[in-house]
Amino acid sequence: MAEEKTDEQWKEKLTEDQYRVARCGGTEAPFSGEYYANHEEGVYHCVCCGLPLFSSQEKYDSGSGWPSYWKPIDDLKLEEIRDTSHGMIRVEVRCPQCHAHLGHVFEDGPPPTGLRYCINSVSLDFKKQD
Ligand code: FE
Repeated sequence: MAEEKTDEQWKEKLTEDQYRVARCGGTEAPFSGEYYANHEEGVYHCVCCGLPLFSSQEKYDSGSGWPSYWKPIDDLKLEEIRDTSHGMIRVEVRCPQCHAHLGHVFEDGPPPTGLRYCINSVSLDFKKQD
């Protein structure tokens, strides 16, 4: 179930910051987001389409200032795109349902995956476990 909206529709639905990061590939300043130090149990959903993306169970403190996870929720495959902007070669990750920009995945994470999903808080909507 793809969620296709026009830019105008996304602008209406999202805040300015959410639109800039999730729809235009922006980045929030480190240590500025709502979730980097969030230790509550629950699920992080896509701020645009609501798809569950990450669980608190795979969240860890990377020290980067962005919420970090060593894998997406369950067996979810994120969309991965080679990103050569800013003179770096990185792998951008996007929501597989609505293509929202989430952040990047790096190969310096903890076991068992060795991956670090470095995600913008503003692309996420946390729902606390009841
Ligand atoms: Fe989405």
